[in-house]
Order: sequence, then structure tokens, then C-alpha cells
Amino acid sequence: MARINFQRFLDLMAQQAEIGATPEGGLNRPALSEMDIRARQWLFERATAAGLEVAMDGAGNQRVMLRANDPDAQTLLIGSHLDSVPNGGRFDGALGVVAGLEVLLTLKDSGAELPFHVEVVNFTDEEGTLRGLLGSSAMTGTLTAEGLPNVRGGADALQEGLSRLGLSSETLLNARRDFANVMGYLEVHIEQGTRLEQAGINIGVVTSIVGVRSYWLTLTGEAAHAGTKPMADRRDALWGAAHLIQQARELVLQYFQPGVVNFGSIHAEPGAFNIVPAEVRLALEFRHGDPEKLDAMQTALFNVIRRSATEFNLEVEITPAGLIPPAPMAEPMVQLVEQAASGLGLSHTRLMSFAGHDAQSLANVTPSVMFFVPSVRGISHNPAEYSTPQDCINAAEVMLQAVLGLADR
Ligand SMILES: [Zn+2]
Repeated sequence: MARINFQRFLDLMAQQAEIGATPEGGLNRPALSEMDIRARQWLFERATAAGLEVAMDGAGNQRVMLRANDPDAQTLLIGSHLDSVPNGGRFDGALGVVAGLEVLLTLKDSGAELPFHVEVVNFTDEEGTLRGLLGSSAMTGTLTAEGLPNVRGGADALQEGLSRLGLSSETLLNARRDFANVMGYLEVHIEQGTRLEQAGINIGVVTSIVGVRSYWLTLTGEAAHAGTKPMADRRDALWGAAHLIQQARELVLQYFQPGVVNFGSIHAEPGAFNIVPAEVRLALEFRHGDPEKLDAMQTALFNVIRRSATEFNLEVEITPAGLIPPAPMAEPMVQLVEQAASGLGLSHTRLMSFAGHDAQSLANVTPSVMFFVPSVRGISHNPAEYSTPQDCINAAEVMLQAVLGLADR
């Protein structure tokens, strides 16, 4: 059985972690910052030194390629990201890119002749310093000109970052790739949660990346004297809000696990000790990986909201604030990773990803799968983020066996 070069791989992981290293042992490598550009240079230098082909698209996505003999062969993509959140960890994203690089180096060393090209992609700005999933959205054609002036990092920061790579909004919007010749997409990532660690399982195979729906809720009652107005006659918007928040929590715990619901912001008006709150604005967000369950969850949550409003004699308005559809992974690719893990004697389980990843862009256009290795104590987006050397090695080993398994199919 072909194995990766453990020491070379761990050295590569250590080398990338020096670029943008923070005193606390983390990484500060926001997308298209000076440190991100240096990490990009490092990737291309390592790849070209090993005789691999490199290229960059109009979105700044870096491509490292190992060619099959047949120039018309299909391409298998392996990807993740080298950018980090501000003061983040050294594994988030980087593990996937470096594991992919190590797989290419191993395949090249072995002289194996695969029936497809293998290409490792370092996607631009997965983390959202500028926009979030910027490179993978551009590559898969879901990025539109309309959204660019309102990107979360600011339009100017986006232009500035792109110009550091000699790119522009124009090249960004033209970075769409033809996926007709792409056979699939694989991504490995740290879990950023505790399910694998708690269960003592080596590999988590993702069946779906959750959909996210966000709404603003406005509950309207009536302002009144907080002393003289009898309790039974009040139309207190905050009582209604408190009630519905509690009801929503119980609903999701009881019927929609592993789905989650969150009320991340609350604002009451007029906002004084001695006035009964007349209006409350709540930020509601909920997530599930199964499209049908997500729909059912929405119906049930809206029922709870409307019933609470009625009970407290309030008006309610529900305004959409964002929608990310669930991204189911391709079952044959899920099985491919499971077989790869089993072949290595590693335990595995299926789970949903509750965080966003580039795989959710790719799942729209090609059979995709991602898998996780444990994160110690689930710590992530934090300098203390850590996965053991053995878990990192498992990530690269499963990736290699999945690629070889696909070649056998
Ligand atoms: Zn990540």
C-alpha cells in the first residue's frame, strides 16, 4: 500500500505555520494580506521544486497539478484554504492544502500512473476577511457583480487585495471554470468541534454542509407606564420575545437535532426602566443539513413565533436576512472516503458540517465530499487550535487512499 512521507508532510505543516505565526502559537494570515501572499509563494515554490505544474486563476485560486499521461483525462480536485481568520489557528484550512500537496508529492515519487489529473486548489478568502468563499464562489460561478460593492470586508479592501496579485473585479468575475471535465472534489479539514474527540473516532465523513437561514423578527406591542399599567393588560413585546426564544429552543432540541437555532441579537424600544417595551427586534438564525428538515424546522419555528405573538397580543413581522442552502455531499464520494479510512484501519462516522467550507460551493457543480479529523477540545479560530500529528497524518493518508480508490473504480 502506498503511504505518504510522514516526516516530509509534518515538515510542510510546520513550514506553512511559520508564515504569519503569532507569539501565542497561532496564525495571522487574512486573505490577500502580506502573509497570505507569502504563504502562496511558499506553496508554489514547494510545488515547482518538486516538478509539479502551477497556475493561478482570476480569483487568485492557486492550482497545483499532477498530470495524467492522457491530456484529455478528467481532473480530480482536492482543495482547502491557506488564509486564516485574524489571530486564528495553524490547522484550519492549511491542513487540507498541505495534505493535498503531500498526496501529489507521494504520487509523483511513486511514479503511479493515474487515469485522471489531480489538482490541489488553495481557494482565496475562504474565511471571509473580504467576502467569504470568495475563490470557490468565483470558480463555481455563483459570484455576481451585484454583490461585490457590499462584500463584508469592504469593496476597497477587496480591490486592494486583488491588486496585490495583479487581479481585479473583472478577472474575479471571469474566473468561472468549466466543470464538464472535473470528476469530483475532495477536502479534508479539522472538525472544529468535539464530536470525534468525544467519541474517540479517527475520521468524520461529512454527509452534508448545513444550510443557514437568517431572519429579522419584529414584535410590536404597546408602550405603557411600567407602574400603572396592570400586568394582565400589557402588550409587552419583550415578554413575547422571551417566550418564543424559550419555545424555539425546546422545539429544536426535541424534534430537529442535530439542527441548531440561535437568537444572536435582541433590541428593545423605547428602552427605559419605566416603560413597557413596545417593540423588540430579534436576529434569528437556524441550521440543518437536510433540506426537507430545514424546511420543516422553518415551518415549526414560524408557528412558535406566531403563537407566542398571539398569546402576548403582539404583531409580528418576519423579514428574510440571508439564506445559504444545504450542500449535500455525493454518496459515492462519501463511501469512497469510508473505504479509504477502513482500509487504513481507522474508525469513521458520518456527520454534518455546521461550519461553512469551500466544499459547499463545489458540491453545486461536481460530486463532492469532505472529511474531518479531530480538533483537540474543539478549539478553532483561536491560536490554541490543535490537531495531533497522528490525526494530521491520518488526514493525508485517507486523502491518498481515496484518490487511489477512485483510480481503481
Ligand atoms: Zn477552514
